[in-house]
Amino acid sequence: MIDLHAHSTCSDGRLTPTALVARAAEAGVTTFALTDHDTVDGLDEARTAADTHGMTFINGVEISVTWQRRTLHVVGLAFDSRNPSLANGLATLQQARRDRAARIAAKIEKLGVTDALPRAQAMAGAGQITRPHFARLLIEDGICRDNNQAFKKHLRPGRDAHAAIEWAALESAIGWLHAAGGIAVLAHPFGYGFSGAWRQRAIAAFADAGGDGLEICTGTTDRQKEVTAARDAAQHGLVGSVGSDFHAPEQFWLGLGRLRALPGDMNAVWHDARFKA
Ligand code: AMP
Ligand code: MN
Ligand code: MN
Ligand code: MN
Repeated sequence: MIDLHAHSTCSDGRLTPTALVARAAEAGVTTFALTDHDTVDGLDEARTAADTHGMTFINGVEISVTWQRRTLHVVGLAFDSRNPSLANGLATLQQARRDRAARIAAKIEKLGVTDALPRAQAMAGAGQITRPHFARLLIEDGICRDNNQAFKKHLRPGRDAHAAIEWAALESAIGWLHAAGGIAVLAHPFGYGFSGAWRQRAIAAFADAGGDGLEICTGTTDRQKEVTAARDAAQHGLVGSVGSDFHAPEQFWLGLGRLRALPGDMNAVWHDARFKA
């Protein structure tokens, strides 16, 4: 059982890397990647935990990218987590996250949240501050009912608590991962709210920029989407990846490792020699 996309408390996940790996092991996952947003901070802890469970652990990260004024997510796999190009690139994104956090905090204070920035910082601890942290503050202070409503009404682009941010360029994110000896996978092609035409444009741009793989089976895809994504991948010579995008046990509809097999005879990213190390 393989799961190559999940989050811990180092970004917007609810479980520590150790607890996440334990839960994955319990679910029967045998090859696992931790892919926190714009940070590799959880990887050493997760690897140590994976060793105690006899699980194959793959270094992972989910890099935020701005492409055509839209956000894309690039999952990096099987890289050297100490590579300086990657570390420097992620450091710039972490600084951009801190700057944006202050701007979002100011906006949700106008909506009635008190002490937004210190509370978001305390919640994130040493991890990255993400929009789901601000969603939790909106819920805690009774302004929103749930995470979904917080995003729909306030945190999405065009809403009153959205703060613009320039993430990495597509070529940069892929370049950092390749410099670190890793594999670049375009995450959840159906997860951006794109039309079919924009989805295909994004996949083509990703492949043209040197990307290696496409996430085919996720916690929220049906077979039809998976077959469509597999066709898109084949058209651009991309290998297939699978990942639940697990964030929290409260997402009861989405389990670690509960993913279908890649459609047909598609090339799997885990057949890469870097997965054997
Ligand atoms: P950030 O990278 O800080 O902008 O936060 C992005 C994260 O917010 C994603 O990885 C999801 O976990 C979550 N997210 C994004 N859009 C939504 C949405 N519409 N509803 C719920 N969660 C969302
Ligand atoms: Mn997330
Ligand atoms: Mn994502
Ligand atoms: Mn994710």
